[in-house]
Amino acid sequence: MTLNSILVVAEAGNGTFTSTSLELLSHARSLATNVAAITWGEGGALADLAGEYGASTLYDVGDLAGALPGVPVAAAISHLVAASSSDAVLIPASYDGRDIAGRLSARLDRPVLTNVTNVTDQGGLVTEHPVFGGTQTVRARFTGEGPGIIVVRAKSFAAEASGAGSAQVVAAPAGDVGSEGGAVIVASHVEERTGPKLEEAPVVVSGGRGLGEADKYALIEELARLLGGAAGASRAIVDAGWVPYSHQVGQTGKTVKPTVYIACGISGATQHMVGMKGSKNIVAINKDPDAPIFQIADFGVVGDVHKVLPALIEALKARG
Ligand SMILES: Cc1cc2nc3c(=O)[nH]c(=O)nc-3n(C[C@H](O)[C@H](O)[C@H](O)COP(=O)(O)OP(=O)(O)OC[C@H]3O[C@@H](n4cnc5c(N)ncnc54)[C@H](O)[C@@H]3O)c2cc1C
Repeated sequence: MTLNSILVVAEAGNGTFTSTSLELLSHARSLATNVAAITWGEGGALADLAGEYGASTLYDVGDLAGALPGVPVAAAISHLVAASSSDAVLIPASYDGRDIAGRLSARLDRPVLTNVTNVTDQGGLVTEHPVFGGTQTVRARFTGEGPGIIVVRAKSFAAEASGAGSAQVVAAPAGDVGSEGGAVIVASHVEERTGPKLEEAPVVVSGGRGLGEADKYALIEELARLLGGAAGASRAIVDAGWVPYSHQVGQTGKTVKPTVYIACGISGATQHMVGMKGSKNIVAINKDPDAPIFQIADFGVVGDVHKVLPALIEALKARG
């Protein structure tokens, strides 16, 4: 381990850190001797969890009073990395994470490496980025002085508790937010959801253009509900307006690694597969026996989703 210190941006919500934050903390432990986290809002109360996953110090920006998180958090990080000479800042690829990364880059005059799926220490940090729909991997490293700013995709690492004790909570330094400090959140909307989150569900049932029409997505939702899973989608039906973007799996959507992934009426474009090929068991239902999705499926059904899905749903209901 050649790195001295890594700072992880840890986002909190619903009384816990997001799964990506815990994945980054876990991986940071394998890269650096000292791992610290920075959080805000309710995250300040999560010292036990931060410590359990590897942070020795939890910097707390505190209550943001409606401010856009990126502004005060980037300001605080720029002070912290200057004082602690951190080797890297690991940031979840979330909306706020990306905002923090951009602002931090401008403050530190350092580049950002984004869409990262692996970070290794090879006498300096080396990042991996899937390109061309995940068919190729680009490796990159930072040059010059200063910390590397790295934005990491969800599910790139396993979240593993280390069993360590609570992190020490320290008030994060308040940086000069300048005119950006005037940016406040005027309204926020919590998307209604029943069942597990797409990224965390043990079973994901996804629908694609093969469903034929928007109303048929109800079959996907019902099967997902019966299996205790979440409903996903290909970009084709998100672009068509059948389901919201939050359901999209793939290169420009979410990465999922459930125990079972069921692709229904999805052809298996590389841009879709890059977001689900890490699933433990892949089931594909497609009427075209030559559909590319069958190349990565563990179990394939050549058939019409309009017949197979209702039959599956009925069978599951009959089992009670
Ligand atoms: C830069 C870029 C980023 C992208 N990012 C993503 C991404 O994040 N996620 C993503 O999904 N896509 C992404 N795409 C789009 C991707 O290339 C494909 O266009 C898309 O995944 C196709 O969606 P689909 O499989 O639902 O539709 P189609 O490719 O049209 O496939 C429909 C499938 O349904 C089957 N079918 C038809 N009728 C039936 C039936 N009755 N029963 C059973 N099967 C049936 C057909 O045989 C076919 O295989 C991206 C593209 C680009 C250029």
